[in-house]
Amino acid sequence: MTTIVLRVAVPCPLPRCLDYLPPDDIDIGTLAAGQRFEVPLGRRRLVGVLWETASGSDIAPERLRKAIRRLDEAPVLTPDLVALLDWAARYYHHPIGEVAQAALPVLLRQGKAPCWQPLTRWRAVENAPEALAELERRAPRQAAALARLLAHPEGLDEAHWPDRPEAAILRRLEARGLIRRESLPPPAVLPPPPEAPSAAPEPTPEQRAALHALREGTGFRCSLLEGVTGSGKTEVYLHLLEDCLRAGRQALLLVPEIGLTPQLTRRLRERLPAPVTVIHSGMSDRERLDAWALAREGRAGVVVGTRSAVFTPLARPGLFIVDEEHDPSLAQQEGFRYSARDLLVWRARRLDIPVVLGSATPSLETLRNALEGRYRHVRLASRPGRARPPRRRLLDIRSRPLHAGLSEPALEAIGQTLAAGDQALVFLNRRGFAPVLLCHDCGWLAECERCDARYTLHRKQQRLRCHHCESTRPVPRQCPECGSQALIAVGEGTERLEAFLAERFGAERVVRIDRDTAGGRHRLERLLARVHAGEPLILVGTQMLAKGHDFPRLTRVVVLGADQALHSLDFRAGERLAQRLEQVAGRAGRGVRPGEVLVQTHFPEHPLLQTLVHEGYAGFARRTLAERREAGLPPYAHLALLRAEAPSPAPPEAFLAAARQCLEAAGGEVTLLGPAPAPMARRQGRHRAQLLLLASERPALHALLDKALPRLGTLPHAGRVRWSLDVDPVELY
Ligand code: ADP
Ligand code: ZN
Ligand code: ZN
Repeated sequence: MTTIVLRVAVPCPLPRCLDYLPPDDIDIGTLAAGQRFEVPLGRRRLVGVLWETASGSDIAPERLRKAIRRLDEAPVLTPDLVALLDWAARYYHHPIGEVAQAALPVLLRQGKAPCWQPLTRWRAVENAPEALAELERRAPRQAAALARLLAHPEGLDEAHWPDRPEAAILRRLEARGLIRRESLPPPAVLPPPPEAPSAAPEPTPEQRAALHALREGTGFRCSLLEGVTGSGKTEVYLHLLEDCLRAGRQALLLVPEIGLTPQLTRRLRERLPAPVTVIHSGMSDRERLDAWALAREGRAGVVVGTRSAVFTPLARPGLFIVDEEHDPSLAQQEGFRYSARDLLVWRARRLDIPVVLGSATPSLETLRNALEGRYRHVRLASRPGRARPPRRRLLDIRSRPLHAGLSEPALEAIGQTLAAGDQALVFLNRRGFAPVLLCHDCGWLAECERCDARYTLHRKQQRLRCHHCESTRPVPRQCPECGSQALIAVGEGTERLEAFLAERFGAERVVRIDRDTAGGRHRLERLLARVHAGEPLILVGTQMLAKGHDFPRLTRVVVLGADQALHSLDFRAGERLAQRLEQVAGRAGRGVRPGEVLVQTHFPEHPLLQTLVHEGYAGFARRTLAERREAGLPPYAHLALLRAEAPSPAPPEAFLAAARQCLEAAGGEVTLLGPAPAPMARRQGRHRAQLLLLASERPALHALLDKALPRLGTLPHAGRVRWSLDVDPVELY
């Protein structure tokens, strides 16, 4: 007799599934991959996911443990997701149980039911007014509740009813037949407002051509929609989403950050004939499960979400879109590291549905795929209507006096913008008042005790803050080394810029938007509302301002701090800088007035800046691709980064040295670089080192990892370090 064995992905750091016997009462015929099981592991009980069944196990039958119980009849992971995660665990060389866990909403990991929580709405029935007078005499509290409902003919949600009467009172009114309760899906997916969806603008000829190219064919195809900022990519998505909904299917739209979702979601909800559901990290666990469940049931027409939404189950998938596909925040960089974009493309292929990657500044990986014909390449080169791309100018600041980092020509330009009734944006990707606090007498620097980094001075909060570990301490009154009180703040952050500009142009003219002023969705929305009101303003901000926003009155952008990235060690620094400059520039001139972008620099002849100014990102990207090919760097090579860290410096280096030997012994066409200290060698009190693996062919890299990784855990120093592998790393820090 063969024994049926359950292979279960259990959340623990083991590479493979664990084998269990089925619980006694289970009908073997109803077993399906993707169902959750509660299983014992050691003395713990964990929630795992059934991956497959097998007839027999390598483990002796008497040593097999029995799964405790099954949690789902209907699998929580659809077959395409099981396949995706199975592939991802192998590709990213990450334990299958942790991968499966990462794909589930938190409440499902805890064993909760995979259902949404209905919203109860109460409503008075039609003839209720006639009963009110009578009720007032006999049951005044019921009467008061009824009166409230009569004042709200659209009904009141139980959850949003200030001083809601006791449940018993509502039940009695219900029993009298005076009020009714409705069970509604949670607000994340309420149907669109009853009025007709707002009208779409007539597509431009360029958009029409793009739509034609994107629609052509059936089944899987991956397309890059490369469109300059403001060219109407979102408009194109809207048409494709509408096609998909009309065909009775669902769509998934991935976006980099939650900061952008309110504007975008509003636009989708106004335009699309089906419920739009949002999934992002700012939601409660309950809200996330609600959205997840509604997507799985097919009630959500469009799901908009940040990277983890790539794992949302859909009943009738029809279209996938990744907006700002180049954005590094689409990559998960801790724990189970993955690229949500790459996973989504894989999933689309598996489901045989189209996927569109959109960006004004495509990643070089995607651009290469498009240029070599693996992806469809669709371009939008101009802005619709009268909006023109902004003019770009380099502002040579060598030997010019600077005020809080701003040169006189830049200040003049800002003044002119305000005088013309327009808005200006000053971009500096560094928050706080000043990045350095220095003793004028002895040269002491305020440095973080846990990182190889300096404290940033935050003047309003009167704190020194480390931007790498978030530790803070009070600002010292005097130098701890020599006792001098001559402590000076060197350099500038957005807080200093704001203070200076407020002094120069008036505080009411300056709005600062960065993590310190706009933490949390509501603060950001409030600040953005001021900008959208359209009065003449100077916006000061970090990359929070760089993406996606549409500010019609913004005509001038001044970029500070560009020089830093020109001399970075990371080979991707130039690409990131170019993307950021292009995205910030894209905020200007989206209305009828032309925009201008000024980039302050000490290196006006630098080839990167020259190319960007004269050829834009498109030219820069194509040149950089040629250079990467020449240098044998991604996307023409494939990387994996083995990282190790520990409280003292020796073990990470020793572990990686041993790992290197182990990798060398396994052989293969893979170049090993390191071990070397990480660019920031100490962070949060931990010493970090890394070993880079570089291969010109992906299979060679993965074959080596398959062979060598299982051995790394047994190396002499493995127990003394925390180590991790990052396949296709986006940051080499
Ligand atoms: P992107 O996503 O490329 O930044 P959007 O789709 O947000 O561009 O479009 C930029 C602006 O142009 C928006 O204000 C949008 O309403 C407008 N727009 C886009 N397409 C058209 C069109 N065909 N006709 C008129 N206005 C358009
Ligand atoms: Zn000193
Ligand atoms: Zn620190």
